[in-house]
Amino acid sequence: MITRFAPSPTGPLHLGHAFSALTAFDMAQAAGGTFLLRIEDIDQSRCRPEWEAQIFDDLLWLGLRWPEPVMRQSARLPTYHAALIRLWDMGLLYPCTCARRDIAAALGAPQEGAMGPDGPVYPGTCRDKPRPPVLPSDAVLRLDMGRAVAGLGPLGFEETGENAGWHRVDPAALPATVGDVVLARRGMGTSYHLSVVVDDAAQGITHVVRGADLQEATQIHVLLQAVLGLPRPIYHHHRLIRDDQGKRLAKRDDARALATYRAEGRSPKDICLMVGL
Ligand code: GLU
Repeated sequence: MITRFAPSPTGPLHLGHAFSALTAFDMAQAAGGTFLLRIEDIDQSRCRPEWEAQIFDDLLWLGLRWPEPVMRQSARLPTYHAALIRLWDMGLLYPCTCARRDIAAALGAPQEGAMGPDGPVYPGTCRDKPRPPVLPSDAVLRLDMGRAVAGLGPLGFEETGENAGWHRVDPAALPATVGDVVLARRGMGTSYHLSVVVDDAAQGITHVVRGADLQEATQIHVLLQAVLGLPRPIYHHHRLIRDDQGKRLAKRDDARALATYRAEGRSPKDICLMVGL
């Protein structure tokens, strides 16, 4: 078993991250497997070295250990580029020049468009424009979902934990429910969906442990694995840690930051109890 915790260094780790990391670590420990840490720092405009240092510090304090050196997504742009070239050569990508407001205008009233895991389903404005002969550099690239699912058989993924069972994904439904997701952002050369799928495969992750907020994105990941011929891990989407108002914790909730609890003198054991472990 190989599990991973894959934080983005864009803010302090909070109780929700602690729960996720501890769950992934404990699962690997119980199975005599390996727990990996991966730094998801593709969005260089939001990532900070001090947040990354704090991640290492907080996780060590919690008692977690992992093999070094850790995988850092910012060092893997050539690998993501190679995956984009493969998709481009299959005719599954196209450049998109729409601004957010163009998309909103094309969709009309917000309630008219379907909501996908990444927000409103893209109306396809740029899909049928002539495509350049080679993969353009530094463009927004979207997956042509209609073409991507053509000829694909039934898809799905195995889930362990709270939602254990087989989760079916109907490829034919994806163009309408998910649409042409962005696989490369401008100034980034990749996207969360592309990098996470490529890296989980590269690291041989057998069990992806992450919050239930990412369960909807998993159908995109399963589709990309099928198209790119990558192995499909087992998924474990765990419950979310919420604040007293029942709201999911966010990075801006400094009050729930592990660093705040540490400064108050709480112990790792206190953290485990707080998240119900
Ligand atoms: N980097 C993502 C985050 O911090 C998590 C990615 C994943 O677990 O798939 O939310």
